[in-house]
Amino acid sequence: MNDHATTGRPGEGPPLRADIDLAALRANVRALRRRLVGGAALMAVVKADAYGHGMLPCARAARQAGARWLGTATPAEALALRAAGDTGPLLCWLWTPDGPWRAAVEADIDVSVSGRWALDLAVAAARAAGRTARVQLKADTGLGRNGAPPADWPELVAAARAAEEAGAVRVTGVWSHLACADEPGHPSIPPQLAAFAEALTVAERAGLRPEVRHLANSPGTLTLPEAHYDLVRTGVSVYGLSPSAEVGTPEDFGLRPVMTLSARLAQVKRVPGGHGVSYGHHYTTPGPTTLALVPAGYADGVPRHASGCGPVLVAGKWRTVAGRVAMDQFVVDLGGDSAEVGDEAVLFGPGDRGEPTAEDWARAVGTIGYEIVTRIGPRVPRIYHGAEPGPGEPKD
Ligand SMILES: *Cc1c(COP(=O)(O)O)cnc(C)c1O
Repeated sequence: MNDHATTGRPGEGPPLRADIDLAALRANVRALRRRLVGGAALMAVVKADAYGHGMLPCARAARQAGARWLGTATPAEALALRAAGDTGPLLCWLWTPDGPWRAAVEADIDVSVSGRWALDLAVAAARAAGRTARVQLKADTGLGRNGAPPADWPELVAAARAAEEAGAVRVTGVWSHLACADEPGHPSIPPQLAAFAEALTVAERAGLRPEVRHLANSPGTLTLPEAHYDLVRTGVSVYGLSPSAEVGTPEDFGLRPVMTLSARLAQVKRVPGGHGVSYGHHYTTPGPTTLALVPAGYADGVPRHASGCGPVLVAGKWRTVAGRVAMDQFVVDLGGDSAEVGDEAVLFGPGDRGEPTAEDWARAVGTIGYEIVTRIGPRVPRIYHGAEPGPGEPKD
């Protein structure tokens, strides 16, 4: 099943495609699990359509490789997993008053609670559904995003304990999120670790006995074993990308990028020197040359900021986007080289066929690898490989 559908043969397949290597995803989950200390479990974060890779196939592959938990941002994502038949532990953390709280409680989704208003809605949903809501309390230990601040924490914990004693909720988790784990040695890290330990102490003193205490995202998982606790929440590393260059390369951690984005050239033509290329004529051919047209644009998630700088493997060499990225297409200048219509252009992949990586794109356009893969739009078909574990693959 490890067929490489990106064969380089002209004319085959869709004009633009994202090949998703599920065997690599499973191997990444196993590689991450091997790093966990103290018997911590792994949550595969599959929000945002699994960072652009396709939520359902990736969730299934992650479970196959021993991801005990799945995590989503939005309730709609979590409910879609349940609708597709996933029944395992599942945490959803980005709530607003509209929920839907009751649907989540009925679907046995762990709901994250960062304030009294959310606890009250979880309790009301549990009563309406005639069930116990699974609630995870989130502390803000310094990120300054979601989570209850330290001043509100004791009251939230006490209210949650009271709701637990009343049978409305079960507090299954206590958790927080790191701000700067992708910058190893950042001065915010030790205070965040201490604040989390303190939040846990307050919760335990109030009588809470959570199943899982968790803090680490991918960079925390890779660089801070003391942050592993009972569970780590890994997203980008499951998809084979490193959280940052400072943390390391994917290979440093035995990770392999899961997505390859490639296209078939839609036009190849000779043009004279001095020819303007694409909107605004921000590129002009320096001499007679061959231009190749790549059918991928910002509607597909190719950043418009890649105009004049995005790297693409065409005809055996890295080329640079010539002129502006348009909505559906961009041009590369092949110089003295030639290519045929239908030949393959690889925007990014694992890198071992000489193609750029998502990290190369991130560097070229001034963003992070996370954004490069997550932006790839719904117009791009995801083509899955290795959905069933091979005969030699470990069983989890
Ligand atoms: C997205 C997210 C993660 C995963 O982060 P990675 O750096 O991709 O591993 C973990 N926890 C929360 C709360 C998140 O929002």
